[in-house]
Amino acid sequence: MRTAIFFASLLFAAAAFAQTYDTVLQGGRVLDPETGLDAIRNVGISQGRIARISPEPLSGKRMLDAKGLLVAPGFIDLHQHAQDAASGRLKAFDGVTTALEMEIGVPDVAAFLQKKDGTSLINYGTTASHAAARALAFGEPIHDPTIVPPSGPATNQPATPEQIRAIENRLQQELDAGALGVGMGIQYTPGASRFEVIQMFRLAAARRVPVFTHVRSFGLIEPGSSIEAISEVIGAAAISGASLHIVHINSSCISVGLECVALVAGARARGLDITTEAYPYVAGMTAINSALFNPGWKEKLGVGYDALQLPDSGERLTKERFDVLHAEAGNRTVLLFINTQEMVDAVIAEPLVMIASDGEDGHPRNAGTFSRILARYVRERGSVTLLDAIRKMSLMPAQRLEKSIVTARRKGRLQEGADADIVVFDLKSVADHATYAAPREPSVGMKYVLVGGTVLIDQGKLVANTFPGKALTTVQAGK
Ligand SMILES: [Zn+2]
Repeated sequence: MRTAIFFASLLFAAAAFAQTYDTVLQGGRVLDPETGLDAIRNVGISQGRIARISPEPLSGKRMLDAKGLLVAPGFIDLHQHAQDAASGRLKAFDGVTTALEMEIGVPDVAAFLQKKDGTSLINYGTTASHAAARALAFGEPIHDPTIVPPSGPATNQPATPEQIRAIENRLQQELDAGALGVGMGIQYTPGASRFEVIQMFRLAAARRVPVFTHVRSFGLIEPGSSIEAISEVIGAAAISGASLHIVHINSSCISVGLECVALVAGARARGLDITTEAYPYVAGMTAINSALFNPGWKEKLGVGYDALQLPDSGERLTKERFDVLHAEAGNRTVLLFINTQEMVDAVIAEPLVMIASDGEDGHPRNAGTFSRILARYVRERGSVTLLDAIRKMSLMPAQRLEKSIVTARRKGRLQEGADADIVVFDLKSVADHATYAAPREPSVGMKYVLVGGTVLIDQGKLVANTFPGKALTTVQAGK
């Protein structure tokens, strides 16, 4: 019997050794934030998955030299608005292999998934949009590419009980269509009562999906402070049992960023499933005709018109210019310089804060967020360790998703059996090149980027006509 097992295992070992993988990453420094692996390994990839991680030589149909380079799980961006081809390209150069529109979601989940199918460089997915469902209930549908609705009755008025039911019905349909959660931008729908918000959390809890939210307000003035706004959604999570992800705690809390992180930490210590994220830039960006600029915004933020800057041209606004642009139709965006570098740096370094870009065209965060974490915080300042940075950009977002999306358990890991979404880069040269003046400059330093085992960036260059991106949906999870 023992002999039989011995010979069986010998045969197995021989078979494993003889195997030829689709692709092998040779001799890189392999990092896995879940197991803590940080060692020179060969990685064998077959059929889109990581099949083998070994110090022994592996043979593959394609051999990629990773010597002297880092090999890590591809980055997962939970907060990516721009889902167009040009932005997908920028994300790939930034090491992002999955970019999800979770903050507010898209107005029509089925149409979004259909449009992206077979045309996306990287993996994608979205939440169901409370703002869009609300607009629909008020008879004012919003359309792509508008992320946030313009300020008006559908954003500013309270919903009737019938309208709340209509919003719920729409969100149910959108979840059935494959949405990954409920996306809310409460500041952009200030007419939504506390009760309406709680009802949306209850719906998410019943569907066992998380709520992703931009909170109701920010600033120091009460009522309506950042602390109050964070407390509102923590309360709704506690009342409903819904999982909660608070987006961009950096820009929602500004000077009280660390206090807000402490609120999240306190709620987590009481057993609530609440997570948060930040992006590494001082400026925010949003639509100039949105409800964020309803009367009183300057007082709440403690800034003047000159804190607002138009993307690309760099023009700082005056009252006169603001009034003209604010009254325009369309969805013109504006940069808001409202935070300090010291606060952003402190929030980024907080262990429970994951990285997400809030990517939109016209802001350097769309192109540079993830490389900037590696360049500025890991290499230059040493305020985040390499493994922690990888954790914040891959494992933590996967963990945020995996309670409701079974397939997310295969993401954010550099382990056998995981999806082969992989970045191979040089820590000495990786860098963000996008700036406020030139927000579409791709990051540099990614030598290889693989999405589901397909090489998307090869020797630092994007492979033409390759669209390996796949949808993340709850439907796919076989629920
Ligand atoms: Zn936001």
